[in-house]
Amino acid sequence: SVLPAREADLIARRDAVLGASYRLQYRKPVHFVRGEGMWLYDPDGRAYLDFYNNVPSLGHCNPEVNAAMADQAGRISANTRYLEPRLVDYAERLTATFPAEIDRVVFTCTGSESNDLALRIARLASGGEGVIVSSYAYHGTSAAVAAVSPNLGEAVQISPFVRMVTLPGPAGVPGAQAAAHFEAEVRAAIHDLKRRGIGVAALLFDSIFSSDGVWTHPPGFVAGGVEAVRAAGGLIICDEVQPGFGRTGAHMWGFQHHGIVPDLVTLGKPMGNGFPIGAVVGRKAPMERFGVTARYSNTFAGNTIGIACADAVLTIIERDSILGHVQTMGARLRKGLEDLASRQPALRAIRNAGLFFGIDIGAPDSPPAARRKLALDLVNALREDAVLVSTTGANEDTLKVRPPLICEVGHVDLFLSSLDRALGGTPLRIVAEL
Ligand code: PMP
Repeated sequence: SVLPAREADLIARRDAVLGASYRLQYRKPVHFVRGEGMWLYDPDGRAYLDFYNNVPSLGHCNPEVNAAMADQAGRISANTRYLEPRLVDYAERLTATFPAEIDRVVFTCTGSESNDLALRIARLASGGEGVIVSSYAYHGTSAAVAAVSPNLGEAVQISPFVRMVTLPGPAGVPGAQAAAHFEAEVRAAIHDLKRRGIGVAALLFDSIFSSDGVWTHPPGFVAGGVEAVRAAGGLIICDEVQPGFGRTGAHMWGFQHHGIVPDLVTLGKPMGNGFPIGAVVGRKAPMERFGVTARYSNTFAGNTIGIACADAVLTIIERDSILGHVQTMGARLRKGLEDLASRQPALRAIRNAGLFFGIDIGAPDSPPAARRKLALDLVNALREDAVLVSTTGANEDTLKVRPPLICEVGHVDLFLSSLDRALGGTPLRIVAEL
């Protein structure tokens, strides 16, 4: 359908002033003026069901987080070079959610900064430069992390110190052989780095491999690769920007799904429910080595307003038993998708941990381009139906579904009925507010 003049004008002005690197989502971009809980509203008051945004994981404009933010903004926004109890209280509280070995924290403002810092820490601790990542990984925007982010495509130079490993999925390896496949890939990467005289600094991976297509199973499939990297003197960095803070339901942190304890863990996105705050959390030895060797000062990271938001987020997660809720809602969504898949052959495979879903679209024997188009058509049909999701994976033919963690049964069922309709190509309708 044709864009209204209001949106067309805004897009022209955006393009002129922001430039080509600012991409808009959806063939018909969405325009939002307000958010509340699971919903985003356009200027005409139409409500869109958000099944995509994992930053406001406790709901858009969460009133408790907002109140904590406003309250702290009215008192002081201190930096980390003054004594301020909230910073220490929160750091203690955050590290208490990790296995005992992980007991140090450094604050950042974004996930990119967290990964950038983690790489510095790992390189210093290991004495190596080489980094092993998955073949469609995305770890952020700084020069150092863009160089370990093959997902950014050929326009970005992958560093000569980086080696990529394929995951069981994109390589077509069945689940049962996933662990052996991953370990073999990691060992080959270590071997190649060493052959060229490059020491191994780290295996860096998103614990749910979200940009690779959401690879959740079987739990523990990374363990052999992790051991191989440790034996080669490298550190394990788990990027929890996507799966962290309870999204996988069974655990607070995605790496726990694999039964491993990393050396460094990077945080971002949902940590402040929308306020920019991130962190590197890690074991004492590498963190202290960095602390005494390098000078780390960050103007905004760890400021008291961000800490107040992050503190409110942890309070809500713990008080409202968000992890249990995620498990319940995740199971309902999974069951609904399985029922749908039994009637809709276009749903090829469903993977999830808690409320993080990857749903492969298109028959296995259909060409990759056809599958990609079908997935994109679906995302855009859902958008017309006022339901927000997106795609991921090497071929972009996997639906990426990540509702805010506070979703209820009604939201899950609404999403399922909308997906059913979009798959069936039946007439679309406007979503009513629950
Ligand atoms: N790591 C992962 C796995 C991410 O998905 C992202 C953001 N999409 C980042 C790091 C970077 O985080 P930020 O955009 O906050 O810098």
